[in-house]
Amino acid sequence: MAETRSTCPYCGVGCGVIIESEGEQITGVRGDPAHPANFGKLCSKGSTLHLTATPLVLQTRRLLQPMLREGRGAQPQAIAWERANEIAAERLLAIRAQHGPDAIGFYISGQLLTEDYHAFNKLARAVIGTNNIDSNSRLCMSSAVVGYKQTLGADAPPACYEDLDHADCVFITGANPAWAHPILFRRLEAAKAARPAMKIIVVDPRRTESAEFADLHLQILPGTDVALCQGLLHAMIWDGWVDAAYIAAHTQGFEALKALVRGMTPREAARICGIEEKDLLQAAEWFARSPASLSLYCQGLNQSSSGTAKNTALINLHLATGQIGRPGAGPLSLTGQPNAMGGRESGGMATLLPGHRDPGSAEHRDEIARLWGCDALPTAPGKTAVELFEAAARGEIKALWIVCTNPAQSLPEQALVRRALEACEFVVLQEAFADTATAAYADLLLPAASWGEKEGTVTNSERRISRVRAAVPPPGSARADWRIVRDIAQRLEARLRPGRPGLFDIDSAEQLWLEHRAATVGRDLDIGGLSYALLDMKGPQQWPYPAGGAPRARLYENGLFATPNGRARFIAKPYQAPLDKLDARHPLSLTTGRLRDQWHGMSRSGTVARLFGHEGAPALSLHPADLPRRGLVEGDLARIRSAHGELVLTVRADAGVAPAQAYLPMHWGSEFIGGFGINALTQRGFCPDSKQPELKFAAIDVQRLDLP
Ligand code: SF4
Repeated sequence: MAETRSTCPYCGVGCGVIIESEGEQITGVRGDPAHPANFGKLCSKGSTLHLTATPLVLQTRRLLQPMLREGRGAQPQAIAWERANEIAAERLLAIRAQHGPDAIGFYISGQLLTEDYHAFNKLARAVIGTNNIDSNSRLCMSSAVVGYKQTLGADAPPACYEDLDHADCVFITGANPAWAHPILFRRLEAAKAARPAMKIIVVDPRRTESAEFADLHLQILPGTDVALCQGLLHAMIWDGWVDAAYIAAHTQGFEALKALVRGMTPREAARICGIEEKDLLQAAEWFARSPASLSLYCQGLNQSSSGTAKNTALINLHLATGQIGRPGAGPLSLTGQPNAMGGRESGGMATLLPGHRDPGSAEHRDEIARLWGCDALPTAPGKTAVELFEAAARGEIKALWIVCTNPAQSLPEQALVRRALEACEFVVLQEAFADTATAAYADLLLPAASWGEKEGTVTNSERRISRVRAAVPPPGSARADWRIVRDIAQRLEARLRPGRPGLFDIDSAEQLWLEHRAATVGRDLDIGGLSYALLDMKGPQQWPYPAGGAPRARLYENGLFATPNGRARFIAKPYQAPLDKLDARHPLSLTTGRLRDQWHGMSRSGTVARLFGHEGAPALSLHPADLPRRGLVEGDLARIRSAHGELVLTVRADAGVAPAQAYLPMHWGSEFIGGFGINALTQRGFCPDSKQPELKFAAIDVQRLDLP
């Protein structure tokens, strides 16, 4: 039996795993005791990873060879890689020649490794010549990115997991780590057991398992997070709990924020949020007066039309109380995907360039063009996730290359997404799994290697870079994602850059990583001192890790921020209600979230029978009093309507859901319910700053299925 150290491909905790294999078969997995994210522990998903790679799964669920669909509705036929690469290059060149480079778009994934991200980024920007490259991380972390940049000056989470061992107050908002980040939650449980005086506050419209564990649960109305933070800040200011010396020495913009929150009294905030004023005041006191307060937050803040405002409102609290840059203190956004952070670092999104650069800056574009060896990068703004599909539906985008993600199930307003896929002249899907909803729309399917089969790196929520290693070769003729990109890019270069030095003369993932590393040198995320060899020798490391330097666990300890004058910025944004409005036709607020044992659209976790033991089928949870009001009993089928779509699902009573609210797990897709996934109900409206859509809120109605 062989053993290979790698990283779990599910959530952003980034646990280390040891893969056990015999010959070309993965036979087991266990937690890596040496990995600083999990110290040997794994959750239900991580500990069953080997079951996602059984011979049966490989034979029945994996895409094993390139497939070509000649005409929509036709059955795809297996073809050789050589022909697949030729077809991809020819079709992309033809569309580029006829409609220009911006008629091509890339929609990639936070499941990709940093090396893959880098390869796609270079292909889109330097070879095709478009900024139309975005990632499903847009649905996940883009509000956190912009929130950090607006307040602290850089997209750099300032705290780390170890801060749980030092925090006296942990403020968890818009997150259910007990289920979505289980191993980090185990660490919180251990910290609480060791120091029972630690206060845990959970802000969530539902009484989740995380809320059950908390000392104080603020069960706010969905979407009212900014009002809550402003009410907390009001209390902190007028009770004298802010850190005036810290504000004076290290920040700017406090007076404007103070003026904004003057009217958001604790009473008014409690009214908007639907909570008790005394609970709000208690939370304000614990947060401000504890020696060290740490915030953990995720999609409840990010997936909102006010996503950036929610992020900045929370970071404002840390800055106003000086709860940052010390052990146990600071805002720590949790990433949903295994490499959402690596995608941000490598600039694999429309609004980013490598090394935390800005595509709107001529200086930054020139720097990257020099590093990559191309003449110039494109200047037209790239389209973000929702915008890409809107443009495709309008006929502006003619070709979409989709990688390791399932937009026909996961994007909001799926009817529009599917129209967009149908309208495209050429859809490439690069995937490990054969049967996703998006696969039905692909003209060309390219089989990708998956977990346990590929080499590279990922970065977890605390800026820690871990190696991902291959234990076995990919099944069938599947290939590493970067290699698929390289082979098609070389064909494109032969036509678009004849006689020029090749941008894709690449033979290994490490070569791509070294190019990525070069783009970080001198930047806030400098990893010039890191190498594959050092990661192999010393294990996972946090950035920054400059040449000749050492990694830093937490940032801004000297009170100097990444802004031009070194001062953090308070951001004063008013509270705004969600875009969907409750009315007589849609009287219930729907929120969505994760289950403990499933992952995203279940392409991988859905291959493990054991993981359905916790929840076997999707159901809409309603407050027990809301079922009889609609003539429903548990287990009934109900029609769920929003202004954006409709689903038919069973209903269940759940006292953890507040009256006039509803909750749905996000995972199930088209094969389970009437052709669409859960996000058929959510809208494509997004935060104006981060472009992250409002996946966490929809106004809905629920009726018995036998009613018209
Ligand atoms: Fe994998 Fe996340 Fe579970 Fe760790 S907590 S084993 S990274 S799913």
